[in-house]
Amino acid sequence: MELCGRTKVYGIIGNPIEHTLSPVIHNTLAQDMGIEMVYVPFHVEEGQIEAAVKGAYGLHVYGMNVTVPYKRDVLSCLVDIDIHAKQIGAVNTLARTEGGYIGYNTDFSGLWCAMKSDGIVVENEEIILLGAGGVGRMVAFMCAIHKAAKVYLLNRNIEKAQQVATEVNKIVGTECITAMPLLEYEKLVQEGNRKYLVIQCTSIGMSPDTERAVIEDEAFYRCVKTGYDLIYTPWETKFMRLVRANGGMAYNGLKMLLYQGIDAFEIWNGCKVPQESVNKVYEKLQKQLRN
Ligand code: NAP
Repeated sequence: MELCGRTKVYGIIGNPIEHTLSPVIHNTLAQDMGIEMVYVPFHVEEGQIEAAVKGAYGLHVYGMNVTVPYKRDVLSCLVDIDIHAKQIGAVNTLARTEGGYIGYNTDFSGLWCAMKSDGIVVENEEIILLGAGGVGRMVAFMCAIHKAAKVYLLNRNIEKAQQVATEVNKIVGTECITAMPLLEYEKLVQEGNRKYLVIQCTSIGMSPDTERAVIEDEAFYRCVKTGYDLIYTPWETKFMRLVRANGGMAYNGLKMLLYQGIDAFEIWNGCKVPQESVNKVYEKLQKQLRN
């Protein structure tokens, strides 16, 4: 597509930003759907997030994604925040409106779409979450709001898990989330023949440290019916290999990345992305990862 005076500018802000795959998603969709827009990465130095958001608004940037480490810091730079993003306490998508940007959390809606497209059910399920960092908190909220029967939130730092459990239970009005130290997974394994959906939200196993999993004990994996790793580099993590070796189904986080982008694109352009375009972007992302 030729850039011209009418081309609308979108982008992603973060630090580091050089490895982002988001331009692949949005520029492919723009081309495929004939929308005059361009999507570029913006490296934002520490302490410059407010200046970056103000500057983007002044330059008439139509929308932005926000990545590590600014998903929480950006909250104070917005004129409004979607209810779920406010409850999660983080945003990854900004949409231009009168006077400033509105914040959304399409990691939340995107993971939900990704899991649905893989046929994964949350309602009434017993779920183990590994990790209570930024994404772990969002996933705990997602499971609680979509009526999981029980969520065991395991984290190395137990205080962090307890804080997330208390906050999410209060917001959703349930007692669904129970915080546990990571090593207490043994208690869950000992509870007979129960099989769990396990969502892996830690950074352990991500490239280049691919020979590690947050839990390495095979006994744990015999209790996993479905393992969903939010990491997508490498394509198959050690966590996923352990799940599959013990008879479970395993998925990586690329569809979450895909659908958080699709949802942002739909918010910005007020459109529905057709499934053929979704598939085209997914293929392109896979190809990019193989290179
Ligand atoms: P974060 O806030 O830094 O949290 C990291 C988590 O990993 C914490 O729970 C931390 O536990 C745990 N952890 C780190 N090192 C550990 C170790 N040696 N042993 C045990 N636990 C350890 O990161 P985040 O933003 O939540 O992101 C987590 C993962 O999600 C990343 O790998 C990222 O690639 C993935 N992600 C995927 C997508 C997607 O679209 N697919 C989007 C965003 C993020 P402590 O609290 O004990 O330190």
